[in-house]
Amino acid sequence: KKTRHKNQYAVIGLGRFGGSVCRELHNMGHEVMAIDIDQDKVDQYSRFSTHAVQLDSTDERQLHGIGIRNFEHVVVAIGDNIQASILTTLVLKDEGVSQVWVKAQNMYHQKVLDKIGADVVVHPEFDMGKRIAHNIVSDKVIDY
Ligand code: ATP
Repeated sequence: KKTRHKNQYAVIGLGRFGGSVCRELHNMGHEVMAIDIDQDKVDQYSRFSTHAVQLDSTDERQLHGIGIRNFEHVVVAIGDNIQASILTTLVLKDEGVSQVWVKAQNMYHQKVLDKIGADVVVHPEFDMGKRIAHNIVSDKVIDY
């Protein structure tokens, strides 16, 4: 059995959200694999990641091929294509990735992700809106 790389991360989908997660992990000095179906995105993120790989994450053979099961944390940041996001999440849980973080596009997407075993579902606009409301009330501008 291969050893798991405890602090190894992968980010699938390099839009604004996924790209930002990827850069920040990289800046913090962690090993992060950047994954996207779009070769231009892969090229763009090669300098903000340990490895940048072009693949379709809905294809289980491709994710299996890069040894995705060895990653402790995988972030799914596929935005508009909800079907691809759901399929990718299923593949990652099937492969045995222990912490799958997924960006939800809307409430229905969020419900499905919870049901199929996503470990953490984030809904950035919704989460940030709540946070901002609290910060406005407590007059706290900087801490978010
Ligand atoms: P943003 O995060 O920029 O606000 P978003 O969440 O809608 O927007 P997109 O701009 O849709 O994100 O970016 C999602 C990324 O996921 C794109 O770069 C796209 O190429 C990538 N992507 C979409 N489908 C797949 C797939 N099947 N496999 C890998 N990457 C994919």
